[in-house]
Amino acid sequence: TYIVTDNCIACKYTDCVEVCPVDCFYEGENMLVIHPDECIDCGVCEPECPAEAIKPDTESGLDAWLELNRKFSAAW
Ligand code: SF4
Repeated sequence: TYIVTDNCIACKYTDCVEVCPVDCFYEGENMLVIHPDECIDCGVCEPECPAEAIKPDTESGLDAWLELNRKFSAAW
């Protein structure tokens, strides 16, 4: 899955939402999040993010962000 991280906080761009083929972006408290179980790992959103906030979960040190994405997206 891909994960939205800190650069998204208070960001107003929604370029990522528009390109996602499975509509798995959701609104968190002050940022967008990706539903980890709905994301099909296509990678299309990553280069679209002007804030470079979207990262693959294969990157290390993102566990806390993954849990936050899961928590906020599950609220919908
Ligand atoms: Fe959507 Fe693909 Fe980005 Fe996952 S990697 S959030 S499926 S655009």
